[in-house]
Amino acid sequence: MTESPISVFERLVDAGPSTATRPTLDTACVLGGSIAGLLAARVLADHARRVVIVERDEVGTEGRSRAGVPQDQQVHSLLPAGRLWIERWLPGFTQEAQDLGAVLASPEQALTCFDGHPQAPGGAHALLGASRPFLESRLRARVLALSNVSTVRSRATGLLYRNDAVSAVRHTTGHGEEVLETDFVVDAMGRSSRLSEWVHSDGYDKPRLERLPSGINYASALFERSTQAEDLPVACSLVVYSPPYPAGGTGVAAVNAIEDDKWLALLVGFGEDRPGASVEDFRAVCEELPPIYREAARGASAREVVTYRQADSRRRGFTGLGRFPARLVSVGDAVASFNPVYGQGMSSAALHASCLSEFLQGDPQLDRQAGEFFQLQEVVVDAAWAVSAGGDAVRLDTENGVEVPEEVRQQRWALQQVIGATVVDGSIAKAFNNVSFMLRHPLTLADPLLLERAVAANQTALTGGATP
Ligand SMILES: Cc1cc2nc3c(=O)[nH]c(=O)nc-3n(C[C@H](O)[C@H](O)[C@H](O)COP(=O)(O)OP(=O)(O)OC[C@H]3O[C@@H](n4cnc5c(N)ncnc54)[C@H](O)[C@@H]3O)c2cc1C
Repeated sequence: MTESPISVFERLVDAGPSTATRPTLDTACVLGGSIAGLLAARVLADHARRVVIVERDEVGTEGRSRAGVPQDQQVHSLLPAGRLWIERWLPGFTQEAQDLGAVLASPEQALTCFDGHPQAPGGAHALLGASRPFLESRLRARVLALSNVSTVRSRATGLLYRNDAVSAVRHTTGHGEEVLETDFVVDAMGRSSRLSEWVHSDGYDKPRLERLPSGINYASALFERSTQAEDLPVACSLVVYSPPYPAGGTGVAAVNAIEDDKWLALLVGFGEDRPGASVEDFRAVCEELPPIYREAARGASAREVVTYRQADSRRRGFTGLGRFPARLVSVGDAVASFNPVYGQGMSSAALHASCLSEFLQGDPQLDRQAGEFFQLQEVVVDAAWAVSAGGDAVRLDTENGVEVPEEVRQQRWALQQVIGATVVDGSIAKAFNNVSFMLRHPLTLADPLLLERAVAANQTALTGGATP
């Protein structure tokens, strides 16, 4: 019997490190040393004699912003699935981050609102507040502390093959091209990875590229925080407005207490709406949001507002390719990069690493294309895509007046019932959060009993009664 996506997904979320004692690979090479590359390197360290990360930027463990990750000054929320998985693979990660100033917001310190209504308490997940460079630097410190993992500053430029399997990576350090012999390659070169073009020009099939317009405008601002994290009534918050509500058309706003006694705050607009491009504009919008946004934005500004526009969500399809090199996989944004407001990227990268671990522990046929890996990964990508692209499709269809088929209309109505009920019913908030935190598969929300409860909760709320 074929395993359901729900069960595959849960297995991957719960996966732990390998118990294998003998490496099956000699040299494994990871292209790109950001979040996805570092997590893949952690997995490979259990299976290879040595792991070499090829990263074109100068990277250290200081947590600085860098050119290769242009989004890194924007608010980044690490979902509970991503944090749990990192913790399982790098035990003590959360405590170390806290010791260096990151803020672990308790469930009581997390505020989520839909159209001005706070979500009912829904589950006991703590959320780690930190900047993206800080998270990456802490991961790097832990992964490079493994005795068999090292990093080379160089730009990967292509692959070499033997018997239709990758056998070496070409890379350039600026002093000419070098060749690194390897017996397994992981592409973690992010959204703009050139891997598809490389393999295609080498005579292999090109993975299918799918794009969905998202037209997202981010603006993140950094403010000084004078209140200690443990004394904050709210240390992390997400608010969503549909349609966009306050000044400048804010669709989503977020604020996180982070390291160095700072608040990192975010305003998001869609299409032509670009809220908060200057500190003054930013503060003006925050005045109209829940009190914690006002409080954060009244702190001294610690840098100019940084904006970022993302035109589309993208995914590349690696399953069902007729001809594709063996000993080669792709992870993280190189495979799929979503509408960032759903905060799925880093947790997806963690789950891709989990797929890699399961693949390598399963006695894989390394001289054939890594079909089993790509099938597992597709379950994770489909799940994240359903949440991100599903939400965008509703917004775009509504904006463009698109008539959708009856079946789609009913699915969207059902999801609206569930989302609506999260503000009045804690058990529905918990089911919804488990999906949005990537702990459970989105199909778990398609449960008729959950829908029945959501409809009843919404009706009770409308008539002013209490939810059973
Ligand atoms: C505006 C915005 C906000 C986001 N917010 C969130 C959030 O709240 N939560 C969340 O989980 N995710 C978020 N994401 C997604 C998140 O940034 C990524 O998913 C995450 O960084 C993992 O990406 P990655 O490691 O796959 O790729 P990247 O972080 O893009 O890194 C790719 C790496 O590859 C290197 N590289 C590229 N080409 C080469 C080459 N030829 N040779 C060697 N090295 C190379 C680059 O220098 C870089 O280090 C957001 C994204 C955006 C755009």
